[in-house]
Amino acid sequence: MSAIRVRFAPSPTGFLHVGGARTAIFNWLYARRTGGTFVLRIEDTDEARSSDEMTRAILDGMRWLGMSPDEGPFFQSSERARHLDDVDALLDGGHAYRCFCSPETLRADRAAAEAAGGGYRYPRTCLELDADESERRAGGGEPFAVRVRVPERPIVWDDAVHGPTSFDGATLEDFVIVRSDGTPTYMISVVSDDIAMGITDVIRGDDHLSNTPKQIVLYEALGKPVPRFAHLPLILGPDKKRLSKRHGAVSVLAYRDDGYLPDAMFNFLALLGWNPGDGGEKLSRRELTVAFGFDGVGKSGAVFDLAKLEWLNGQYVDDLATPDLVEAVRPYLAEAGLWTEDLDGPRAGWLRSLLGLLQPRCRTLPAFVDQARPFLD
Ligand code: GLU
Repeated sequence: MSAIRVRFAPSPTGFLHVGGARTAIFNWLYARRTGGTFVLRIEDTDEARSSDEMTRAILDGMRWLGMSPDEGPFFQSSERARHLDDVDALLDGGHAYRCFCSPETLRADRAAAEAAGGGYRYPRTCLELDADESERRAGGGEPFAVRVRVPERPIVWDDAVHGPTSFDGATLEDFVIVRSDGTPTYMISVVSDDIAMGITDVIRGDDHLSNTPKQIVLYEALGKPVPRFAHLPLILGPDKKRLSKRHGAVSVLAYRDDGYLPDAMFNFLALLGWNPGDGGEKLSRRELTVAFGFDGVGKSGAVFDLAKLEWLNGQYVDDLATPDLVEAVRPYLAEAGLWTEDLDGPRAGWLRSLLGLLQPRCRTLPAFVDQARPFLD
């Protein structure tokens, strides 16, 4: 095993969608290629939106795609005490401060700034409070949030996909890491967990790019090494807008239910935003693993092309040995009321021949039902 440790960190607020699955696949491929460790962390701190059912659906989706974690699943909500210990360390080190501004004041200030046509940033009102007063007010039971003091300098990292990337700290707000109800926010929980789990490479969607400078501030303030970051391009629909339900199914398991084969789906998702460079499209898990690297990962959005998935699935259907094909098609025939006992007995050979005959014409498993119906009805 190498020292590389990566994680897939889904929030169980929905099914495993194709974007999440693609992120998981890239982490998995990188871990397999480098001999590293693939960790699964369920980010379930948003109690109102998280559910066990969604956690199970995420695990089912990963299992279907043939990816099991080397470690985990771990649950972020179990680590709240450690997240708050890290907050205490930041307060003690002067990297964070208590903010007693009321939500009403903050809202009114924001509205006034926006009405005046300007952008709003927290004006650091509470940064000036001296330590004794802050201590006294907190001790007296006054509610407070905790904010990080963002340094006013460029925050830079060498993104494995985007190359050298820089955000000006002077334009970032002193962001909140503990809400006034005492709960830690995503920003600190994720960094605290990544440190505790020894994560060396954070591979995730582009939508997290703007979180990265804030997280780097936290690593540095906690005196910990900053991991490498790789931000993957967004997945787009054919109209080049962010992929959503409007474009069709986004849940990975919906593709299973529609009769796509897991190896085809894995292959297809692995090439969403990554070009292995040899021109080939149909690549086994082993070939994908050997070829994987961030050089071929694109910076701009990757289009989800359903026609390509169908084509690729057809290739995998073609590869199925006849006994496997019969097993794969059986539930679809049964559901259509076309399965009869003799297909397991005297007519088993005939069915194998029939499916073999139809194999080159069918690109998904349900297609066999339509094609076989005239022969079976
Ligand atoms: N839980 C976050 C999400 O589902 C991912 C956090 C991360 O990768 O840093 O978007």
